[in-house]
Amino acid sequence: MLVKIKCPKCDTEGTISLLESSYQGPYRCWKCRGLFTIRLEDNKLKSCEPLSQEEFDKLQEIEALKKKFKRD
Ligand SMILES: [Zn+2]
Repeated sequence: MLVKIKCPKCDTEGTISLLESSYQGPYRCWKCRGLFTIRLEDNKLKSCEPLSQEEFDKLQEIEALKKKFKRD
């Protein structure tokens, strides 16, 4: 499913596709390229904190691994 996320930095709405109704992980704004770690519950944004590029890369790796394991 697709969930809308409003960027706290530039107020631009983006979307993220989720497998479940809750999510915690990286998000990148398509417009300002801002990096955030977001937490969603029941498709609603609960928290959103700025991330450094380094942290973002790390989180993306973890997310990619999670997806890989789910598929297997
Ligand atoms: Zn933005």
